[in-house]
Amino acid sequence: MECIFCKIISGSIPSYKVYEDDLVFAFLDIYPCSQGHTIVMPKKHIGLFTEMNKKDASDLFSSVNIISKAVCRAFGLDGMNIGMNVGEVAGQSVPHVHVHIIPRKEGDNGGSMHNIVETNPGTENLADLAKKIRGSF
Ligand code: 5GP
Ligand code: ZN
Repeated sequence: MECIFCKIISGSIPSYKVYEDDLVFAFLDIYPCSQGHTIVMPKKHIGLFTEMNKKDASDLFSSVNIISKAVCRAFGLDGMNIGMNVGEVAGQSVPHVHVHIIPRKEGDNGGSMHNIVETNPGTENLADLAKKIRGSF
């Protein structure tokens, strides 16, 4: 077993666990973007979000919903960023599906997800792009 997140789930790498059930494991990010930065992952090893089936993805995001409320209560947050890097090109550094819950406070100057991803795609062909996606289900 090479995957560091699988090792965190099994306990062979220590972590600050915040939640665990049959399906998911949540723990504090070792390099937090803000105080309380939490990672939620499925216990089953799956590399990419796009490799998950609908049931597994639903279970993961149901847990993210529950855990995000606990994080919010714990720190009296004003908001949070919830997101994932999918694939190396998007910045995924650990190839085990996981969702980041990043707590936000008024005045923390942390910016938004719009600040971290900007490839300047233009806005001319939005109708074509939407059509392309609709044709790919
Ligand atoms: P990614 O870049 O794949 O979206 O997120 C991986 C996250 O896992 C990073 O934010 C990184 O700080 C965190 N991380 C990597 N290795 C460890 C570890 O051994 N323990 C903990 N708690 N977090 C880790
Ligand atoms: Zn894994």
